[in-house]
Amino acid sequence: MPHPYHHSLISVKKWGGVAADYQHIHDWFDESKAIIADFRHRALRHHAEGIFMAERIFGSTLTLSTGRVIPTRWVGEQHVRDDLGFIPSFADWVKAIRPEPWMGRTRHLEHLPPLAIADGGKP
Ligand SMILES: [Zn+2]
Repeated sequence: MPHPYHHSLISVKKWGGVAADYQHIHDWFDESKAIIADFRHRALRHHAEGIFMAERIFGSTLTLSTGRVIPTRWVGEQHVRDDLGFIPSFADWVKAIRPEPWMGRTRHLEHLPPLAIADGGKP
């Protein structure tokens, strides 16, 4: 499993600059390793929506130390392709989740205390 630093080195080869120009974006994609240490962590951000989320967080463009400006999305697409070989949708990940009964449970509002209903369910 590539380290974010190694993803950054691939970015340098593609667009120039130094690893630090890209590190924060690649770190963000792999931060989910803190939740689950195996490859399943990728379900959180390694898909098309994750790439667009990175764009919203880091801005639509990235200015490299060389002064070159590149789309942030390019870096996200590179990261996901480095890891998976293609860019899945989140729906592709969902198809691989085995449904469990607890996932579909809903509480009926009539069982909640009256104040919780009046506040929209906020504690
Ligand atoms: Zn990754």
